Amino acid sequence: MKFDPASNIQDLLHFGEFGDVNPSITDSATYTFMEAKTMVDTFHGEQEGCFLYSRHWNPSNKYLADSLAAMEGTESAWVTASGMGAITSTLLQLCNAGDHIVSSITTYGGTFAFLANYLKKFNIEVSFVDITRLEEVEKAIRPNTRLVYTESMTNPLLQISDLPGLAKIADKHHIPLVVDNTFTPMMIAPAKLGAHIVLYSLTKFVNGKNDCVAGAICASHEFIASLADVNTGSAMLLGPVLDPLRSSGIHKNLHTLHIRMKQHSHNAMYLAGKFEEAGLRTIYPGLSSHPQHELMKSQMHPDFGFGGMIAIDLETSDKASVLMEKMQLAGVGYLAVSLGYFKTLFSNSGKSTSSEVPEEVQKEMGLSEGLIRFSVGLDHDVQRTWEKIRECLVV
Ligand code: PLP
Repeated sequence: MKFDPASNIQDLLHFGEFGDVNPSITDSATYTFMEAKTMVDTFHGEQEGCFLYSRHWNPSNKYLADSLAAMEGTESAWVTASGMGAITSTLLQLCNAGDHIVSSITTYGGTFAFLANYLKKFNIEVSFVDITRLEEVEKAIRPNTRLVYTESMTNPLLQISDLPGLAKIADKHHIPLVVDNTFTPMMIAPAKLGAHIVLYSLTKFVNGKNDCVAGAICASHEFIASLADVNTGSAMLLGPVLDPLRSSGIHKNLHTLHIRMKQHSHNAMYLAGKFEEAGLRTIYPGLSSHPQHELMKSQMHPDFGFGGMIAIDLETSDKASVLMEKMQLAGVGYLAVSLGYFKTLFSNSGKSTSSEVPEEVQKEMGLSEGLIRFSVGLDHDVQRTWEKIRECLVV
């Protein structure tokens, strides 16, 4: 049977303590025990179903984490206060000082900065590779390599990672493939394609309301338990815990994600076609001109389309600025970073979400200074949206 993330979420039965159809929000930092021994056992990770302290585990967060594990088909999950909280906790859990990472050169700018700058503190080296070239990935692996890192659809160039191909390399070298699936929830299920750890910024499509930041790590029981270990777990010890009030909101929004992804994809497919027809260099995995179009088709769930992200190239950042300002005034959406919102958002990646990437590296990875990244919204009438954009394109 085909893996169906939306039905997996629909089948969840989570009730509140009075039969509430939405689980109760656990508004407590600490939890009482009837017997002292149960507390001791819980500290040692030997007591299932007991809660100790909300930085360790919280029932509201557990509902959200269990739902995300169901969506991804992983044994377990953990939720964090931001996507960066998920990424940094995972990398610090997997690596010790002196280790090495192989990563896609194209990743979210914050991830790039953490890999390139912050991990230097621990003498952890990172080899950045073109993730679409599997031979380059394999060649970069060293005896002290601890993981391969990529994004299913990379930010902002929208390259598609060959997840089965990368998983094969990772398995051969007995290291995990860690995949940020922020751009492609529902559409791509990395764990089903061989990834060992799946990361999210829930801030984006999963929550979809732009009202909070949050993240998630979906993985094996063993890895999630290691993150929560009271002596050595990076999630427990660094403390990037999600507020349960927020997790309950995200949990409710998760139940409409499948409908939203279809509409984001429908609108983006239409606009990408129009941009291309208008003669602009357009990057969208749903276009046959996209270098990994066929690969995307082989990895995606067809019900959810090619996603809500498009990149167009205006060649210079000045031209990009003019178009973005015009589009905002015309009501196309907002000139803002981030993505996965019900309104269209657009930004000039090189000067915003990838500005942490040095200019020469931007050039090396093929990131044009005029690249505008769109997160296409849930507009009911996308033809009307295109008419507005078309007028803004007239110089
Ligand atoms: N991963 C990707 C692909 C992103 O685009 C972002 C943020 O833009 C993050 C991770 C970081 O997430 P957060 O802002 O929730 O920390």
